[in-house]
Amino acid sequence: MIEENVLKIRQRICSLCSKINRDPDSITIVAVSKGRSKEQIGECVAIGITEIGENRVQEAIAKYKALTAQGSQIRTIKWHMVGHLQTNKARNAVEIFDLIQSVDSMHLALEIDRQAAKIDKVQSILVQVNTSGEPTKFGLKPSDTIEVIKQMARLKNIDITGLMTIAPIGGQPEKVRSYFRILRLLLDKINDLGLTSQKLKVLSMGMTDDFQIAIEEGSNMVRLGRAIFEG
Ligand SMILES: *Cc1c(COP(=O)(O)O)cnc(C)c1O
Repeated sequence: MIEENVLKIRQRICSLCSKINRDPDSITIVAVSKGRSKEQIGECVAIGITEIGENRVQEAIAKYKALTAQGSQIRTIKWHMVGHLQTNKARNAVEIFDLIQSVDSMHLALEIDRQAAKIDKVQSILVQVNTSGEPTKFGLKPSDTIEVIKQMARLKNIDITGLMTIAPIGGQPEKVRSYFRILRLLLDKINDLGLTSQKLKVLSMGMTDDFQIAIEEGSNMVRLGRAIFEG
């Protein structure tokens, strides 16, 4: 089932990209495997999906340990933290995650920087922005983002590589599109202002229900759970 699902997703991305004149290979699929088994993650890896997203540190550590103990193919996994990260879990998070997508405060960035320094790591992160303004969602306000990124850019042990947002579930397509557009414009603005040592490249937006709209709006990283694991 996973293989068929992924094939369908790749086909959809390909046909969409040919319509909007984008390179389908420029779009990274992250399989969000919260609640799924290590065997299901193994199936993803076997068909070339090596970016794996988790939303809880404890669950991720258990899977990480189980999978790194196995065959070498599994070692190619890049682990993404996509859920809200509590400051007291930052130490464990920097030990296993290749990319922490959900950095939503200076306070958290400082702690990630401190913990990463201890293990001599430069931790790649995305800054999460709450583009819809929904009170239940984590993420910086768009209007605060530039100022916060200016401060985060001074930290030596984090590398800001892009921005992430989560659109409201079941939102109207045109509304959802506007929330993705806000994130893309913000990324362009940050790059125009030259706030970070390297230009931000990653725009992580789009999930099962809205990844096609997200790609039309410039997403180059989609985070898919149900589309991959349910059929
Ligand atoms: C669960 C989750 C996803 C995947 O959601 P689906 O709708 O199942 O594709 C993506 N991003 C985050 C942050 C998630 O928590």
